[in-house]
Formats: sequence, structure tokens, C-alpha cells
Amino acid sequence: MKPAMIIDLDKCVGCYACVVECMVENIGRRLEDGTLSLPERPTDYSRTRPATVTSYAGDEKRVFIQCLHCDNPPCVYACPTGASYVSPEGVVLLDSSKCIRCGLCIDACPYSVRTRLMEEFAGTIQHEHALKIGIPDKCTFCYHRKNGEGLWTPACVEVCSFDARLFGDLEDPKDEVHRIVMSGLAVPPRDDFGTKPKLFYIPRKGGYELVRYPVRRENQGITFTLWSNLKEMVVKPLTVMAMLGAVVLGTIHIIRERGKVKKE
Ligand code: SF4
Ligand code: SF4
Ligand code: SF4
Repeated sequence: MKPAMIIDLDKCVGCYACVVECMVENIGRRLEDGTLSLPERPTDYSRTRPATVTSYAGDEKRVFIQCLHCDNPPCVYACPTGASYVSPEGVVLLDSSKCIRCGLCIDACPYSVRTRLMEEFAGTIQHEHALKIGIPDKCTFCYHRKNGEGLWTPACVEVCSFDARLFGDLEDPKDEVHRIVMSGLAVPPRDDFGTKPKLFYIPRKGGYELVRYPVRRENQGITFTLWSNLKEMVVKPLTVMAMLGAVVLGTIHIIRERGKVKKE
């Protein structure tokens, strides 16, 4: 079994139901009263999100982007601890207990689909692959829904009323996903990256080549990590030491001045 997803851009009406459902399933936390809590800017952390891309013909299109579960995943090769790994079915996952938050995976991903939550928010994590603070998060194909040997249905696929998202087995000749991909109707974005994605798009009718995909988001990777560490380990302690030094020097100065006054 090799799970794969197809997003049909003709059927997609851009209703965002998949974005919201992914947040409910993977980003939100449950409060004691059963209600859902979300980060302050939840859409920054959604695992599937709309992005505007430019076709080779020059026109702009909107697609929904998420991790493509590459068969040749640079993020996994870049990870120094084995925290980013591939499941037996080929789903690219993250073991947060091994992650040192170095951000190398974020920079290694040519599709810029990893992001990390930098704020605490209330509630209980709903499952082991849910979003965690500081961990480079991404789509897991809702792996936590796997139950037994068979294929499962991701939340975004389940919620889509327009059947714009298909999830299936790329290795099963009877599976619709297999048939559509083999027919060439669905194509992976930026095949030239050589990462062999397992997320495919059916381009809009009239066709356009996919895609200059996507624009890099604000750096959250290694540069970000180094700067955060620098701030924590050097800048902050130096600031505290400078402030303490100023207080000590100020106090010495006041004592000396008082001494001078008394002598006079
Ligand atoms: Fe890794 Fe990016 Fe490929 Fe997902 S799309 S498997 S994060 S390289
Ligand atoms: Fe691996 Fe990414 Fe965690 Fe670094 S930040 S340990 S590369 S998963
Ligand atoms: Fe989110 Fe699951 Fe859909 Fe991935 S497969 S975008 S984790 S709902």
C-alpha cells in the first residue's frame, strides 16, 4: 500500500472546508468543557492552506498546498536525529520526542510546507501527530486515523462535499487514485525537484502547467533557529549583565559621591 492524494482544481470551489477541518482535527486542542481552542492566528499553522501560484503561461491560480509526502524526501535526509521519518506505507512523519527543533527540515523542503507554532495555547493535544509547540509541523495524511492494515480517510478528504480531494492507494490498480495518476490526468507539482511527491493535482480545464510553487514563507528554519538561540543564549544574558553592571556602577558612583560630600 502506498497512500497518495489528488486535489482536483476543477472540482475545488475554494470553500476552505478542508482548511478548517484540518485545524479542528490536528491543530485545535480540547478544553475541559469539550470546546476547541486554537492558536491566536490559526491559519498561519494550518497544514493545508491556499496559495497563489503562477503558471508557466504567466497566469495566477490558487491551489491548496500541504506536505506532498515525497518518496525522495529531502526533509528526512536533512534531519540529524531521525525525528523526520517515513512510515512503512511511505507517509512522511515526525517523531516529536526525537526532534531537537534545529529547523534543517524546514529549509530542506523545496515546497516550504513545514511551519512551526511559536506560541502556547490552552487545551489538550488531540492525538500524537497533532501540532506541538516549536516542532516543524506539516500534513501527516492524518496518519493517526490509520486503524489496522487498510487505508484510512483523512479529515480534509472526508469533509470535502465536492469530491475535490481523493485519497487512495497508488499501488492498487483497482484504486481510482492509481488509475488517475497512471492516466497522466493528475500531475505532481515541480517534478523537476526530483522528490517524487505523492500529492498530485488535476489542473483546471484548459490546462496549465503546474507551477511555480510556492513562494517561500518567512524563514522558520535554521537561520530562524540560530537567531532564536543567539537571542536566548547571548543577547538576553548580555542585556541582563549590562543592566546589572549599570546598576552596580551607578550604586558605586552614588556611594563615592556621598563619601566626597561627607569629607567636604
Ligand atoms: Fe518533506 Fe517537504 Fe516533501 Fe513534505 S513536501 S515530504 S516536508 S520535502
Ligand atoms: Fe529533525 Fe527537523 Fe526536528 Fe531538526 S527540526 S531534529 S531536522 S525534525
Ligand atoms: Fe490536514 Fe489530514 Fe488533510 Fe493533511 S490529510 S491536510 S493533516 S486533514
